Amino acid sequence: MNLMEEKQQKLAKIAEEVKKCTRCDLYKKANEAVPGEGHPQAEVMFIGEGPGFWEDKQGRPFVGQAGKLLDKLLELIKLPRKEVFIGNVIKHRPPENRDPLPEEIEACAPFLDQQIAIIDPRIIVTLGRFSLNKFFPGEYISRIHGQARVIDFAGKKRIVIPMYHPAAALRSSIIMEEVKKDFQKIENFRKEKNVS
Ligand code: SF4
Repeated sequence: MNLMEEKQQKLAKIAEEVKKCTRCDLYKKANEAVPGEGHPQAEVMFIGEGPGFWEDKQGRPFVGQAGKLLDKLLELIKLPRKEVFIGNVIKHRPPENRDPLPEEIEACAPFLDQQIAIIDPRIIVTLGRFSLNKFFPGEYISRIHGQARVIDFAGKKRIVIPMYHPAAALRSSIIMEEVKKDFQKIENFRKEKNVS
């Protein structure tokens, strides 16, 4: 088994654990778990908030309107969706898309942490404030979006680029322009191979 197959197998195991998880109450009202999907050795990993209506129906991340926008943004920078990994802070949909509670985020965090450790992405793009606050607690997205920072996470230096959630871009043309500009930065960082 090569490294990619090994990682694929580990990610599949996590996905199975997510589907059986009862660590918080969110599974009770959810339809499908959404463990995340993508390339097991992705250079770029996107982390959103949690499943919405369509994600909960299909068990896949970013498949609704915000997902369609994410696909377009990826096209803009010529980064195929199958080459990245897309996950969420929360793996089961909060009822009526309410904000996840701090205890739910904490209960779900080990899954995401394990996914990051396995995939080992060089670049992490946070989408929205909940994934931003995972890496930069207390920070505001309006203040630091688009500003890449190098942090130590899962035993390595990684570039983290905070961005607005695509759903926010769908609600505001001003944010849409910011998101497009921020996405271009992913391209620049992919060209720079030295993290620090
Ligand atoms: S949201 Fe996370 S912690 Fe809560 S039940 Fe689902 S997988 Fe488990």
